[in-house]
Amino acid sequence: MVRKKSWPKIDSSNEVQHFVNKMCAEYDVPFIKVIVKSKKWMEWFAGKGVSACAFWPCEGYEGDNIEKYIAFDGQTCRISGNERSIPIKISQRRQIVERFHTVIHEFIHHYFFHHYRMSTKYHGKEFRKIEAKINSEYGIYFFYSKNNYAMWFHNFWGVPYAWGKPRHDERGWI
Ligand SMILES: [Zn+2]
Repeated sequence: MVRKKSWPKIDSSNEVQHFVNKMCAEYDVPFIKVIVKSKKWMEWFAGKGVSACAFWPCEGYEGDNIEKYIAFDGQTCRISGNERSIPIKISQRRQIVERFHTVIHEFIHHYFFHHYRMSTKYHGKEFRKIEAKINSEYGIYFFYSKNNYAMWFHNFWGVPYAWGKPRHDERGWI
């Protein structure tokens, strides 16, 4: 009821990759490569204000053997990677929750594209249903904004994941 699954350690691109691999196995979708880029690159690639996205170089192609990517702006998402060696800084619990939520969110785009050949750009009803379900397994709850992005993260009892230093188990360190 509270939290069925423990939170993973996802400080580096390798660790995010490892977590995404586990999700892929659990939800029966093919491997997807995780890349961590600069804030500048992400905005150039995906548009202003975008900090993460799932994409496919030949969108619409029916095969599963093309390489697919989930890209993160390392600075905003607080993930260190090959192309971003500055150490990540996390001082608030909220930052941990937002990062984790973002990783799951991008995975769900991959999930829908694979299973339903469906663009989930606008985070429709089905997308939000699965998103709420997966997050709740980790004890993460939230409300949706008008444009279907999660906000105001809180725990099962409605206590906000806002300020305060994250505990070691929340960082996935134990
Ligand atoms: Zn999205």
